[in-house]
Amino acid sequence: GIVFVARETDPAESRVAASVETVKKMKALGFDVVVETGAGHASRISDADFEGAGARIGSAADGKSADVVLRVRRPTDKDIKSYKPGAIVIAIMDPYGNDKALAAMAKAGLTAFAMELMPRITRAQSMDVLSSQANLAGYQAVIDAAAEYDRAMPMMMTAAGTVPAAKVFVMGAGVAGLQAIATARRLGAAVSATDVRPAAKEQVASLGAKFIAVEDDEFKAAETAGGYAKEMSKEYQSKQASLVADHIAKQDIVITTALIPGRPAPRLVTRAMLKSMKAGSIAVDLAVERGGNIEGSEAGKVVDVDGVKVIGYLNVPGRIAASASLLYAKNLVTFLETLVNKEAKTLAVNPDDELVKATMLTHAGQVVHPAFAAAPT
Ligand code: NAD
Repeated sequence: GIVFVARETDPAESRVAASVETVKKMKALGFDVVVETGAGHASRISDADFEGAGARIGSAADGKSADVVLRVRRPTDKDIKSYKPGAIVIAIMDPYGNDKALAAMAKAGLTAFAMELMPRITRAQSMDVLSSQANLAGYQAVIDAAAEYDRAMPMMMTAAGTVPAAKVFVMGAGVAGLQAIATARRLGAAVSATDVRPAAKEQVASLGAKFIAVEDDEFKAAETAGGYAKEMSKEYQSKQASLVADHIAKQDIVITTALIPGRPAPRLVTRAMLKSMKAGSIAVDLAVERGGNIEGSEAGKVVDVDGVKVIGYLNVPGRIAASASLLYAKNLVTFLETLVNKEAKTLAVNPDDELVKATMLTHAGQVVHPAFAAAPT
């Protein structure tokens, strides 16, 4: 079969769905690999690098002959029309609220897989794009905060006097938050963190940060079977807000990462809280694409809110594209491997495989995923 690695059409996307390593891997699996010219440019992978790994460099028109299309983002309507019916398309599909796009992929006869729906089970850990990308986003959030901060992160004792360590508060201690904690600690900041899941408490402590949370009965039951947070009650939210308000007033940098699957991001930082921080403080909202944890954060912008710089960059993993692409590409090829019969070196999608069941959005003209199948076509 032929694998086509598309150049992303969204100008905001700097990642690519293959690397030198994964092209070699796909060749070994028996695929011919065609990479659209320039696809790796923003991730520092040249056409020559891909060629050296055994790929052929092609154009968008090569998508037509592909059995498998690898992308970072969901294909546009124009892309969809350029792929052949029956082709497998694997990407971060952003399916929620995008019924029309799913219907278009179904209508075109594509078998579309959404990488972000990969179950978070041990077998699929190496295919978990949410983790691989969130980890880098957590790191980059601290780097972005440090770059906007007018003061030093570590405590510095010098002959000319002492500079205090920055106080960093991380809200939401999942994959991104834990990496933000670790990164801020490496830079010498004094770090604290909060979450609504009790499991986070020990993880935060093990990274040497202080854990702050309202630990009532609701907190004890806040983790779903899938390991995610529930949406908390109004009562909990107000208790959390008063605890956090006092704490935030003493912080230099706040980094928020809190998400609830399928729901808007919880509002954790109010304007009044921002106002309580000293001038030149920083707030980074990693949840800005999902509605934001911080009041006043703006998607794609750094804005000044009462003297606090509020950072709302979009596609934060894309800000560290060369690393993000390596990990994303590896996630993809590991999943692709599960769709291949290794003896025959042919594609063999097993509809009963739990990974396929969890991620397949469209197949044979239909939207097949149970969470989206009812979508009007
Ligand atoms: P996420 O991106 O959905 O949310 C980020 C964090 O925000 C979570 O820790 C969540 O508890 C927290 N949060 C939600 N509402 C909040 C609120 N009101 N106040 C404060 N914090 C709030 O989560 P994630 O980073 O994808 O990780 C969720 C869990 O899944 C973690 O326990 C993680 O370790 C686990 N996980 C498991 C696997 C695996 O087993 N393969 C892989 C990845 C992650």
